[in-house]
Amino acid sequence: MSQDSGSGRLAGKVAVISGASSGIGRATFELFGREGAKVVATARREEKLQEGLDAVKAAGGEGIIVPGDLEDDATAEKVMQAAVDEYGQVDVLICNAGVGWQYGEEHPGTMAGVHEATVENWRAVIGGVDLEGYFTMIHAALPRMLERESGSIVNVASMAGVTGLYDGHAYTAAKGAIVNLTRSMAITYAKQNVRANSVCPGFIDTAMIAPVIGVFDDPDAAHAMVPLGRAGQPEEIANALLFFGSDESSYCTGSNLLVDGGCTSRSFAA
Ligand code: NAP
Repeated sequence: MSQDSGSGRLAGKVAVISGASSGIGRATFELFGREGAKVVATARREEKLQEGLDAVKAAGGEGIIVPGDLEDDATAEKVMQAAVDEYGQVDVLICNAGVGWQYGEEHPGTMAGVHEATVENWRAVIGGVDLEGYFTMIHAALPRMLERESGSIVNVASMAGVTGLYDGHAYTAAKGAIVNLTRSMAITYAKQNVRANSVCPGFIDTAMIAPVIGVFDDPDAAHAMVPLGRAGQPEEIANALLFFGSDESSYCTGSNLLVDGGCTSRSFAA
């Protein structure tokens, strides 16, 4: 993907991004920095966050990193307080941190169907970062946004939040919940000028889907999977998050944008 120097589409805004250490979150961290946001980046791996911050600063941007584990309920408040301490406000929240198929390789049963998963597997995903991690971040950001009657919350869900999958049932339940939580927040907080939208990526070439990305090596299989015939790049999701984070989306709240190469638009492969 080409990277321009940005045109200030987020100038003056403070943007908090979860899962900023890799994949979609890292691309968003760098893009938001180029577009003039003061970026507050969080994830567990401090050295990866620092790499992102170095890239942001090298491009003339500004930000801080706040390492933390979203399995710990206190992390979200720590991140928001750090944002307010440093920059005085939170304008944009990108809820993005999540686990998927790579996590499933490391934690058998978590990306399984209901018939194979245990209650503990279910809780690890739903009660962990994939759903509860969104709740805690939003819960910590909202009072700051409502107080100022200004804010944009953008939730990274998944095309698996609007279609079913043969496995990963806890994941799909979490993603479907995120899409509808977004709608509920949109109607509840619209009067206070806090917008909420979601973005549903399709197959994106990140660590999360490393165990399955090999299917795109075969062009026929790639087109059978995705009409555009390839996996997406993290920057292609970051661009959608930029739109919703910026004032360009000022009339969008409760929107759900699929960015999936056409995957969910057809009923069967040609
Ligand atoms: P990724 O490269 O694996 O990034 C996941 C991010 O989440 C990392 O920054 C990771 O950072 C963070 N994270 C995971 N567990 C965490 C925890 N307990 N506490 C704090 N941070 C945690 O995957 P990605 O593809 O960019 O995923 C980003 C989002 O896109 C996810 O919500 C995912 O469900 C969604 N999505 C991805 C795809 C896809 O095909 N890639 C498709 C649809 C939706 P640390 O490890 O440093 O903590």
